[in-house]
Amino acid sequence: MKVPVSLLLIFFSFLSCGQNADPFYALRNRMVEIQIESRGITDNEVLEAFRKVERHKYVLNEYIPYAYNDSPLPIEEGQTISQPYIVAFMTDALDLKQNDKVLEIGTGSGYQAAILAEICDSVFTIEIHETLGKKAREIFNRQGYNNIISKVGDGYKGWPDYAPFDAIIVTASPGKIPEPLKEQLAEGGRMIIPVGSDPVQHLVLLKKKRGKIREERILPVRFVPMIDSTGTRY
Ligand code: SAH
Repeated sequence: MKVPVSLLLIFFSFLSCGQNADPFYALRNRMVEIQIESRGITDNEVLEAFRKVERHKYVLNEYIPYAYNDSPLPIEEGQTISQPYIVAFMTDALDLKQNDKVLEIGTGSGYQAAILAEICDSVFTIEIHETLGKKAREIFNRQGYNNIISKVGDGYKGWPDYAPFDAIIVTASPGKIPEPLKEQLAEGGRMIIPVGSDPVQHLVLLKKKRGKIREERILPVRFVPMIDSTGTRY
């Protein structure tokens, strides 16, 4: 019988960590080392956040054994939780500081928001699907993230009440960069966003300096589309 390596690791970490320990601890450290650190992400704050946030709590029950695999996974409403490396890459690209105010568009499972909340004092996140938005808020409460403020709504418009933001991360892909998000970026702010129509999308990094925005295309990617309240893609 062939036993998947992830199950073996869960078993052995149970043995080695005692009853109160997190059985996924070893798997998570392996994920950080092999998928994130060895691919060039060295920022300690970022790595520490990935060691801490329990990804298995953000995936559907049937995918728990695969929570630390090197891949995206399905969540409800036909959406996905991104591959850990992509979450890390986007987080790292934002060059976050502790007192940054961050806006995320596309809460989904809540995993990316939790990572941001480990690094920054205040995180705002918007999800268009009510079921996902509500479920994520329950997880944030359970995990004690009182620095995450979430709402259900259309993130294309940003969150003017709390703008400007030092960093904006968009995890659903529009055809063009939403103007309201550019406007809500603070001076010195950074935004990372997957842009383009299927099947070609690119991660674009924007930086606002002296009121001007500079854009840099950095990586071909594949994200779910950004949609409006009628389900039409932007
Ligand atoms: N950051 C998420 C990834 C979720 S996938 C995570 O860590 O799990 C992208 C999410 O964007 C989906 O949940 C999708 O429903 C949501 N989305 C799509 N269009 C949106 C919009 N206009 N405003 C807010 N969320 C949107």
